[in-house]
Amino acid sequence: MINKAVASVVPYFPKKFIWMFSKKYIAGVTVQDAISVSRSLNMHGVSVTVDLLGEFIHNMEQASFNRDEYLKIIEAFESAQVDGTYSLKPTSFGLLIDPEECYQNIRMIVSLASKYGSFVRIDMEDSKCVDLELTLYKRLKHEFPNRVGLVLQAYLKRTADDVDAMLKLHTPDSPLNFRLCKGIYNESEEIAYKQGSIINENYLKLLEKMLYRGVYVGIATHDVALVEGARKLIKKYQVPKDMYEFQMLYGVAPELRNKIVGDGNKMRVYVPYGEDWFGYSTRRLKENPKMAQHIIKSIFVK
Ligand code: FAD
Repeated sequence: MINKAVASVVPYFPKKFIWMFSKKYIAGVTVQDAISVSRSLNMHGVSVTVDLLGEFIHNMEQASFNRDEYLKIIEAFESAQVDGTYSLKPTSFGLLIDPEECYQNIRMIVSLASKYGSFVRIDMEDSKCVDLELTLYKRLKHEFPNRVGLVLQAYLKRTADDVDAMLKLHTPDSPLNFRLCKGIYNESEEIAYKQGSIINENYLKLLEKMLYRGVYVGIATHDVALVEGARKLIKKYQVPKDMYEFQMLYGVAPELRNKIVGDGNKMRVYVPYGEDWFGYSTRRLKENPKMAQHIIKSIFVK
């Protein structure tokens, strides 16, 4: 109850104050900040996927601007020889305004990443974007079979059917590549599981199917129970180390991350950066209101 109340006041926290919390979870404001954080992760044996933070866009000029920014990021990351890939949210490129132009924007980004032998992950956004993002992925996968991947959300009831349908497109020349996460948006109970234990059960069911069918999976979670469940499945199916990786958000659960890396697993950290850190941070705070409680406490308790 308290957590919900705290979450509701998060957007009203002073910006300066949010930054105190955010700097742990955001690589900085400029591409150079993102490169230096990524390099230091690389030095600890961790790969990255970089994400330029952005708020909701209202026109296709903003979409073109975001596309050009991503093209610059790729050039900068590749010339700095960072061990990393790229994550993006299709709505930032016009998905809900002009899906065809959005496709063309993202196509240019994947094409450049592809030129460098890199990879682009399409983040999954809220439920109204799912069909459009599946279509986008299938189209891009057709042209860039090994250079693009999609995120799937275990809280959505439809995901099991989506996986089954996509498994038909899984071929040696054009393999599927998924990141599996719980899902972050506030969806209705008609379409989404709400109970943590059911979401976890579905997560492991989906993961089992993916690993069993030889799909490369980015196991994106900080939940110890899921990491443990994943470990058991990897062992059960003797999944080779180059067929999965663990993924975590920058700044979250570093001890667990070190443990997973120490056990010899590949780890990729999602590194968000950019001027729009404020919107990203308030969303993170709302997800984890315990953090917000700590922040509120620190205002009063010196
Ligand atoms: P939880 O049970 O939520 O968390 C386990 C523990 O981790 C918590 O107790 C807490 O200690 C810690 N923790 C988790 N999240 C945070 C946080 N934000 N701040 C501080 N501590 C935290 N969701 C989407 O809908 N679409 C995406 O494209 C997407 N991409 C993602 C990419 C990566 C690499 C990761 C790691 C997550 C992504 N997510 C995405 C978010 C995901 O869906 C979950 O909301 C988020 O990861 C929390 O779920 P969890 O599995 O870590 O379990």
